[in-house]
Amino acid sequence: MIVLGIESSCDETGVALVEAAGTQVPRLRAHALHSQVEMHQAYGGVVPELASRDHIRRVLPLAQQVLDEAGCHLADVDVVAYTRGPGLAGALLVGAGVACALGAALGRPVLGVHHLEGHLLSPFLSADPPAFPFIALLVSGGHTQLMQVEGVGRYTLLGETIDDAAGEAFDKSAKLLGLAYPGGPALSRLAEQGDPAAFKLPRPLLHSGDLDFSFAGLKTAVLTQVHKLGDALEQRKADLAASTEAAIVEVLVKKSLAALERSGLRRIVVAGGVGANRRLRSQLDAACARRGVRVHYPELALCTDNGAMIALAAAMRLQGGVQQARADYAFDVRPRWPLGELTEG
Ligand code: ATP
Ligand code: MG
Ligand code: FE
Repeated sequence: MIVLGIESSCDETGVALVEAAGTQVPRLRAHALHSQVEMHQAYGGVVPELASRDHIRRVLPLAQQVLDEAGCHLADVDVVAYTRGPGLAGALLVGAGVACALGAALGRPVLGVHHLEGHLLSPFLSADPPAFPFIALLVSGGHTQLMQVEGVGRYTLLGETIDDAAGEAFDKSAKLLGLAYPGGPALSRLAEQGDPAAFKLPRPLLHSGDLDFSFAGLKTAVLTQVHKLGDALEQRKADLAASTEAAIVEVLVKKSLAALERSGLRRIVVAGGVGANRRLRSQLDAACARRGVRVHYPELALCTDNGAMIALAAAMRLQGGVQQARADYAFDVRPRWPLGELTEG
């Protein structure tokens, strides 16, 4: 079974081909991505209307590119998958519309995928795929959640952010430091030259006893430091970046360990853009190694949004009999879609 996956929930157009045989972990045949980051940079954030228009321009050429790379033809595609939500309504509609049009033209069924399920299953495409059950730490631009994952479609939310997401905390702090959107990766690069203990920044909800997160206060603390430093900011920028990163990472690691302890599970999967963060990876690896816990990450290129995770999630849902692909081509998108409502289809 060959699944063509289309991701268009935000500012990345991703298309991929995944092949699934029997109950084996699906294999990535090809994937291609166009990031709109440069286009949105001038506005300091994503402009929804521009995002939708750019997805329209990019999606078919990207589809052709992955077909060529995989040595496939459109007729070889068995199922067309697309991101149904959550995300920007107009952007999602592009992917859904194109997927359903392709499906109808080819006479193949289509399947709408939950974007976060894509993120959380993405480590299955890595060289060291996980096995169920596991704890998932989903840390992206819009979400920060700890989940217990028993199998495909069987997700229990253990805790989540009550305000900003971890990626948002990175991006907003980076903006305060004068770094370009999206600042997460830039802040992380700058942090490598700084002292993570230089500034005392808050670790919100670290000892709250639950598995929830809060990052909104951190950006206020960073702003206070920026004001205090004034002209001295330039010399201390790397230190402030390192201290910010350390604060975010410490909370993520501590809460992940607490989730592991509570569940008794000995396996954790990290997914979403912040999963690319080097400090998070090294701190979590070290803490988990001491406890005999296995950590799984997506390949670096598949941490942020991509079509591969969408094709993969569709393939795994079909393999597990969790969902059927549909051939009525009556598509809808769900801009707001809690993962907990996923099994309702
Ligand atoms: P969601 O998946 O919740 O809808 P999203 O799709 O925008 O949100 P992703 O594409 O998974 O999120 O991740 C993007 C986020 O990851 C951004 O906030 C970005 O700054 C952050 N990010 C990417 N790389 C790094 C890094 N190395 N260090 C810290 N943050 C990073
Ligand atoms: Mg993005
Ligand atoms: Fe995402």
